[in-house]
Amino acid sequence: MRDLPEGFSRFWTALPHSFAVFFSCWILLAIALGVFYKKASYETKRSLHPFIMIGVGILFLAFSEGISHGTVPVFFILAVVLITFLNIRLTQFCPRCGATIRPQGFSRPKFCPKCGAELER
Ligand SMILES: [Zn+2]
Repeated sequence: MRDLPEGFSRFWTALPHSFAVFFSCWILLAIALGVFYKKASYETKRSLHPFIMIGVGILFLAFSEGISHGTVPVFFILAVVLITFLNIRLTQFCPRCGATIRPQGFSRPKFCPKCGAELER
């Protein structure tokens, strides 16, 4: 911890241990998923995306339950379920270049912003 800026080091040691674990896992998961969505093939991304999103949602709720000692409100669970559903529904993958097209609001673009190929509806 000596190499970190003092402010960050103090912030880190003041955190509850469970939150520090959550934070570390979340950063590692974000990096891993970032690599996956950048490098994986169109077919792989298309078939694994729903399972990954559901897994991330369950993991997030499990961590939240653990940190809050089982006092996560119902609306929070419903919000996570809704976000997961919308993410699965609105995220698209380009069949030509394999780009991951994240939702922009609630609309699904018709064409790939990277290569211009028509996207499946
Ligand atoms: Zn494309």
